[in-house]
Amino acid sequence: MPGALSPVHNEFRSDTFTQPTASVLAAATTCTLGDSVYQEDASTIALEQKLAVLTGKPAGLFCVSGTLSNQLALRTHLYQPPHSILCDYRAHVYSLEAGGVASLSQAMVTPVHPANGDYLTLEDIVENFIPDDGDIHLAPTKVISLEQTLHGIVTPIEELRRISAWCKDQQVILHCDGARLWNAHIATGISMAEYCSLFDSVSLCLSKSLGAPIGSVLVGEAAFIKKANHFKKQNGGGIRQAGIIAAMASVAIDENLPQLHRSHAMARELGEYCESLGVVLESPVHTNFVFIDTKKSKMNGQLLSQLATKYDVKIGGSRIAFHFQNSNEALQNVKKAVKECYEDSLVNPYIATGISKFYNIK
Ligand SMILES: *Cc1c(COP(=O)(O)O)cnc(C)c1O
Repeated sequence: MPGALSPVHNEFRSDTFTQPTASVLAAATTCTLGDSVYQEDASTIALEQKLAVLTGKPAGLFCVSGTLSNQLALRTHLYQPPHSILCDYRAHVYSLEAGGVASLSQAMVTPVHPANGDYLTLEDIVENFIPDDGDIHLAPTKVISLEQTLHGIVTPIEELRRISAWCKDQQVILHCDGARLWNAHIATGISMAEYCSLFDSVSLCLSKSLGAPIGSVLVGEAAFIKKANHFKKQNGGGIRQAGIIAAMASVAIDENLPQLHRSHAMARELGEYCESLGVVLESPVHTNFVFIDTKKSKMNGQLLSQLATKYDVKIGGSRIAFHFQNSNEALQNVKKAVKECYEDSLVNPYIATGISKFYNIK
């Protein structure tokens, strides 16, 4: 149906709402149907190898979710507690994986606020790093986990290079939660392999902007992937006829990755529109998200959701997510909802008190 609107063209709550296109669905009918727990499924092995080649890593592991691939990576990197993981205070591995690092890896987390407000620098890391120097009070930092992108923000490659070199020097493992590394790659033109060369392991989501129905691939050294597969099975993550979903993900990468730039352009248009109105943003718009600072803008996020319904678009609150299936028509309606919410804030400045920030963040 060329030119037809996607059923999720007006969906801005998350880029997870992207739906398999006709060609992605068709891939499920031509794939192999071997048992991937026995490592006998050619379509799954092909996807793992495709991402290993794309990222310049020796091996890949297909998992059901980004949460599983992150948790497997951290569990595999860590050995005996006491130990800590250092990450941004907003990191998914820390704040949105149901405390998995505590229960699966028995790890402490050092959540760090970046001094520049946007992304962690080497200085932030050095300041919060816990050395393994024999001090019996401490839980030494064994893994640093960086998210690229985080809240849509791209950490500059120069900063990643500094951090990576320092980690090698200190023999600290560097993991990347690259759920949206695709978006950084499209926004900067820097190859996936160049980004991945700076990390020991990278988790790549397939079911967000790319529009695969399910899945994530963890990439890293062969021995690391072999052990991660052991933990994958232990956590009930073995998938039998995985070829069906692996083949769909492979087509989603080929066809939809080159389309991500459209979602970035739409986010930029909304970001610029917000700023022209006087709406304060929480983060710069580097890729596919606009985060409205509802506190500073004195705007009511709940009202914004209600106004979105009035204009036939779906917005979860202060975070507006873009993906390749959004329409320009829906973008213009988002602008109307934001404008009306902002105009209301001038008359009824909204002061949020006593409301959990963890409410409605899915
Ligand atoms: C969505 C997301 C994950 C987890 O992916 P699921 O497939 O939903 O488990 C991990 N990290 C980041 C940054 C994410 O946005």
